[in-house]
Amino acid sequence: MDPDEFRRHAHELVDWMADYLDRVSDLPVTPGMVPGDIARRLPSSPPEQGERFEQLFADFQSLVLPGMTHWNHPGWFAYFPGNNSPPSILAEMLTATLGAQCMSWATSPAATELEQVTLDWLRRMLGLPETFVGVIQDTASTATLVALLSARERASGYSAGEHGMADSGKLTVYASAQAHSSVTKGVRLAGYGLDQLRLIPVDAAFAMRPDALAHAVSADLASGFRPACVVATVGTTSSTAVDPLHSISEVCRPHGIWLHVDAAYAGTAAIVPELRHYFDGMEQADSLVLNPHKWMLVNFDCSAYYVRDRDALLRTFQLTPEYLRTEHDDKVVNYRDWGIQLGRRFRALKLWFVIRSYGVEGLRALVRKHVALARELAQWIEATPGFELVAPVPFGLVCFRYCPAGLGEAAIDEINRRLLAQVNQTRRVYLTHTELNGRYVIRLVIGQRQTEREHVQAAWRLVQEAAANLKPRAVG
Ligand code: PLP
Repeated sequence: MDPDEFRRHAHELVDWMADYLDRVSDLPVTPGMVPGDIARRLPSSPPEQGERFEQLFADFQSLVLPGMTHWNHPGWFAYFPGNNSPPSILAEMLTATLGAQCMSWATSPAATELEQVTLDWLRRMLGLPETFVGVIQDTASTATLVALLSARERASGYSAGEHGMADSGKLTVYASAQAHSSVTKGVRLAGYGLDQLRLIPVDAAFAMRPDALAHAVSADLASGFRPACVVATVGTTSSTAVDPLHSISEVCRPHGIWLHVDAAYAGTAAIVPELRHYFDGMEQADSLVLNPHKWMLVNFDCSAYYVRDRDALLRTFQLTPEYLRTEHDDKVVNYRDWGIQLGRRFRALKLWFVIRSYGVEGLRALVRKHVALARELAQWIEATPGFELVAPVPFGLVCFRYCPAGLGEAAIDEINRRLLAQVNQTRRVYLTHTELNGRYVIRLVIGQRQTEREHVQAAWRLVQEAAANLKPRAVG
């Protein structure tokens, strides 16, 4: 592709992108495909000769696009949102154009310093003390693994040094029974072993019980284990429960246990003063993760990881082979030493563009709108006979179920399964489910940039219509 062709196609694509964002609400939110539908239409071997871009773009539109699930759709109520926004998309275009690999200050000074400054802006927005420093990781799963590795090293007195892994045979990790699966995966990968993970019981609002945590820590100490890390969650995946950070930090402090806060989805809400109380105590944490790629209008991927003791990161991850040494190393931040990977994308640019384009007030307004809509929907549900709200609604997630009178629990699970399938079959909205207290529960998350009240009303109408059409089935 010569420079003129690149220019022409880039202009065409930008027009297409603007039209797509405008008309995404007219598309079905889910593609209605069966497995293999796309692959079977693609050639099984690559072309020997290069093809024209016109052909590639035509295939993108006819083969790829129909198989996409549209996370940008205002009818997106599934999982948690994976937002983007025009300024973030533009930043990604620049990032791709620059093609920089930002492993160290020398390989891209602006990328490193912009990441430092932007993460410090975000720290202020979250109300975290100056002692916290930030680094962008790809995902919250990686950030939690980084926290677990740092905790492991600190608890072992960094005894492994540069020579290998500390012995983690006696180290234990604690998280609530509602913690995200990335904690379990991280515990496995960090070498603690799954039998060293204690899943702490939760209260009626699905939040970790600090008394049960204290009990588990004491029992482990008495049995000769060394408690290394507690992962607390603000905004659990199933129900956005809020673990009580103050009380949890009081259990951690006397024993020097690393406290990691997983606020992957809900963390963005900490920038809103009236929601900040849900995060009280996070300043006591050793580390914290939140995903601007979930609720802060930044394209996937961008996960902000904050740590109180920068040395704990460096002592865990720093390793400098001769070929990476530069004359500035003692004066600069080399982010390759702040996590697992060596090569790093220039992710700070999109976060910087988004914060500057919307301003902190603009981002707060978005979160406020979503939370207000979620609470309004919760009121509609509570006011409708035959439906029940299953968990508190601190943020944008509403957990509910349809429970017509006279049905047993198994029949209620079964009817909710069918209800969700019917609603999603319309392909006008996309909702997902979870299990709470052993029961099937429908999750509806309001967090997409373009979702307005009318979209929530339409979704609620679809749920009610589906419920009205369903006949209970006998469940054995
Ligand atoms: N933690 C929580 C509470 C989550 O809800 C999620 C994903 O939804 C994750 C961690 C994992 O996020 P990521 O996809 O960034 O690894």
